[in-house]
Amino acid sequence: MADEVELAERVRGELPALLPAAEVAAVDDALGELIERGHQGEPVATAILKLLRAHPGLRRRAAELADPGVPRAVLPPPGARSLPPAPRYVCPNGDYEYFHVNTSRAIPKCPHDGAGLVPGDPA
Ligand SMILES: [Zn+2]
Repeated sequence: MADEVELAERVRGELPALLPAAEVAAVDDALGELIERGHQGEPVATAILKLLRAHPGLRRRAAELADPGVPRAVLPPPGARSLPPAPRYVCPNGDYEYFHVNTSRAIPKCPHDGAGLVPGDPA
């Protein structure tokens, strides 16, 4: 799997904390589609990086995730962020989590093993 797809998955899980609320659903949709295509073997790295660079909050977070040398201290401590109440779904095999931010979109299957996602505990 391309590193960019993993990066997109990490950033996608934090969208509500990184973007203005009005932009979350559209970016969640776009990232979700790119992640799914990436898992199917399509070359999506360039498109993912372009999307991340288009939003200052995402660009900053992606740079932090991509460069482990950036001190974590600049990030808010866990639990300090005020996330909107997006329902959380998890893969029963424990390898994927998904925040159902855009409720007009169907809940996806696990991109790793195709399992149906199940409701998880609140993040
Ligand atoms: Zn899975």
